[in-house]
Amino acid sequence: MSEHENVTIKHSSDDSSDLRQLVKDLSDLKFELETQKEELIRSRAETKESLELYENLYDYAPVGYLTLAKKKNKILRANLTAAKIFGVDRTNILGDFFDRFIGVEYLSVFYAMLERAFTNRKTEYSDCILLNDNQTECWFHLVALVSDEDECRLTLTDINEHIQALAKLKANELRYRSMFVNHAAIMLIFDPVTGSILEANHSAIEFYGWSAEELYTMKTSQINTHSFEEINKATYQCVSGEKNHFITHHRRADGSIRVVESYTSTIELIGKPLLFSIIHDITERMGYEIGNAFHLSILQMLDTTSIQEVLKKTLDEAEKLTESSFGIFYFLDEDETSLSFQACSTNTEKIIDRSIEKTKDCTLDEAGVWADAVRERKQLILNDDADFKSRKRISEGYGEVQREIIIPIIENEKVIGLMGVGNKPSLYNQLDLHWLEVLAGYIRDIIAKKVGKGIQDMLKKQNLIIEQLALHDSLTGLPNRRLLSERISLSLAQCRRNKSMAALMIFDLDKFKPVNDTLGHAIGDILLQQVAVRTRETLLRSSDSIARLGGDEFVVLLPQIAAISNAVAIAEKIQKKIKEPYTIEGHTIDISCSIGIAVFPDHGENELTLMKHADDAMYHAKHQGRDKVKVFQPCYCV
Ligand code: GH3
Ligand code: MG
Repeated sequence: MSEHENVTIKHSSDDSSDLRQLVKDLSDLKFELETQKEELIRSRAETKESLELYENLYDYAPVGYLTLAKKKNKILRANLTAAKIFGVDRTNILGDFFDRFIGVEYLSVFYAMLERAFTNRKTEYSDCILLNDNQTECWFHLVALVSDEDECRLTLTDINEHIQALAKLKANELRYRSMFVNHAAIMLIFDPVTGSILEANHSAIEFYGWSAEELYTMKTSQINTHSFEEINKATYQCVSGEKNHFITHHRRADGSIRVVESYTSTIELIGKPLLFSIIHDITERMGYEIGNAFHLSILQMLDTTSIQEVLKKTLDEAEKLTESSFGIFYFLDEDETSLSFQACSTNTEKIIDRSIEKTKDCTLDEAGVWADAVRERKQLILNDDADFKSRKRISEGYGEVQREIIIPIIENEKVIGLMGVGNKPSLYNQLDLHWLEVLAGYIRDIIAKKVGKGIQDMLKKQNLIIEQLALHDSLTGLPNRRLLSERISLSLAQCRRNKSMAALMIFDLDKFKPVNDTLGHAIGDILLQQVAVRTRETLLRSSDSIARLGGDEFVVLLPQIAAISNAVAIAEKIQKKIKEPYTIEGHTIDISCSIGIAVFPDHGENELTLMKHADDAMYHAKHQGRDKVKVFQPCYCV
């Protein structure tokens, strides 16, 4: 009830005072009414202002506002932002159906949201693609609020940038994920606290040989062959950033062990600090590096060192690579029945018991596991009693053999030798085998080279012998007819150039046959040898040659004479020397010789003529009673 309704007109006895009172009351009332009117006007102005403000806020809000009729989603109200979103005048969308602005594939999402909103009577959300009048698509976040039975208020927030950013993020994530998954490098992500492998890329799965599922149940300690302490220390160094590069050994599903180089850094994934490792298999590289250095060093030794020294160096290297404490090398003989000891490592030399000859050569039957490697033609890793089971361990002379690896050296499918190392403090593994095979490869080449060189040297010697035999007389060792012929032609060529003289003398022992007949052929041989020696001794110039033509016939070539008389003098010296008595096996033998001389160029200008004329002169000496020196005379020909 308003205040003026409470004013009552009072009738009193004192009319004038009442009237005055009335006037006053009316005046008060008027004032009050005027005041109220002013307030009303002000209030109305304020309301209008508020309404305008509200309308401005409604129209220009950064989000689109719509009121939809439940029936057919007809647009009952829309702010200017909503109209702008759809690119139409507000008047044009009022009464229109909202569905036409929804991307077809999002209609069901939108209907489902509205249904929930009307059913639950609470705010519901969905993200949809809306289309404007030009059919341009844009992502919006829709909020539906049902205020009344038949109406629903809808706010539209442009989330296009957000969605695009998300899509970009997802694309980036996919790209990085794809880079990780498909990268050629081996990559692992693991938990530094538990050591559990959380992610492994394709290369890792391929390298380790376990499936992704298997790897995800494993810990790094099942891959890394190093001790727990070492792994923990490395993990700590990675986490603290102290060190991120390691060279270590990793085991694979097939039992092989590889030398790997890993670069490990921390990454934050799913809110947790994890370790990310990029792993390179450097086994081959290491093998080449070590192998090449070793190969070079033994190649340098090759010419000056024996094969045994080379083998010893190989065993020292094998010991170093496999952490072994002894190493031995045997050659296997051709028919594979015995082993001949070739070398042992420097360490083994210290422990070897030299009193036991068994450490040296042995038959294959005595060779125990070494013989097994020959017969089975394969490498043997013998780590424990189970491995040695049914095999004969040979340790006599080498101290106690706890474990060993034996490698047969095979050349052209034939075992040519055996290399073995033993007593590594921990178990031998595939990597040890790998190192030994690298060394065995080099040593096989070296053996082939060394043995090959030996054969070459032998052939060279044989050729020399054959050559010697072809050009020399086997009984006396003197040049034979062939070599003499070469020397004569050289000498004559020189004489032609120098216009000098050369002499050829042929001498034949007188009555040699009776020596053979009376004292025997063997004594005859010795006599021929001694005649050769004496003649050689008589010739003072090294350029002078003596040859045996056969039987008891010899030729002396004097390539440089000043006069025929010089040749005669030498012939007489020979004659005299040969005539001195010989004592052979208790027999004193006296023998003389007949000598014929032909001189270049006087008696002939070629070998054939000179030989013939010297021979003629010699026969002339024989005919003249033997024991004579005769110079060729043309009259013999007559
Ligand atoms: P002449 O005085 O006429 O030379 O007579 P000769 O007894 O020396 O006989 P001649 O020179 O005609 O024969 C040489 C003999 O030397 C013939 C052969 O029985 C012998 N004879 C040939 N070659 C060898 C040989 O290699 N060793 C030995 N012991 N005797 C040989
Ligand atoms: Mg004779």
